[in-house]
Amino acid sequence: MKIVMLGAPGAGKGTQAKMIADKYSIPHISTGDIFRANIKEGTPLGAKAKEYMDKGLLVPDELVCDLVVDRIQQDDCKNGYILDGFPRTIPQAEALTDALSKISDKVEYAINVEVPDENIVNRMGGRRACVGCGATYHVKYNPPKVEDVCDKCGEKLILRDDDKPETVQKRLDVYHEQTQPLIDYYTKQGVIAEVDGTVDMNEVFDNIVKLLEA
Ligand SMILES: [Zn+2]
Repeated sequence: MKIVMLGAPGAGKGTQAKMIADKYSIPHISTGDIFRANIKEGTPLGAKAKEYMDKGLLVPDELVCDLVVDRIQQDDCKNGYILDGFPRTIPQAEALTDALSKISDKVEYAINVEVPDENIVNRMGGRRACVGCGATYHVKYNPPKVEDVCDKCGEKLILRDDDKPETVQKRLDVYHEQTQPLIDYYTKQGVIAEVDGTVDMNEVFDNIVKLLEA
């Protein structure tokens, strides 16, 4: 089961990816984890990636793709894998398709967790973080006992800049511009699987499983 996860930041795709990985005993692979592992182990690819990162530059698509392809050829991926956060752009998706075809492999499912921007902006806008201990809350889904006060340490709770509506909307605009074309790309490849991400996360998961086992 070879899966790519698509979905806007805040759509809950990371949570779904973990649940899929657990159910099917396949690794949940994020590029951040691959970078960290390769740099820690001092692999040649890791050393190359580190050069860019140390300079504060983006790791080029081809190199990211090499790292991903290297990762998915490891033993634990023989029953499949789930890629989270890669590809993000059309050039990355094309590089991945090319690299996979060289090892007679291809993406089997591109799962798109679909959530309207408005819902994501509202969800994120309800988050609160403690200025003291960093504990996080949500005004609707996980409220503190006393409004705007941390249950754990009694400090004040704030809405982080990252969670403010204008910041969230900016991130979503970038997502739509870069990643939305991927949905078309994988639709053309006949591997897109779309689920409604606005319902309860267990229901989202059940719907994904239905698509995977159809
Ligand atoms: Zn606290």
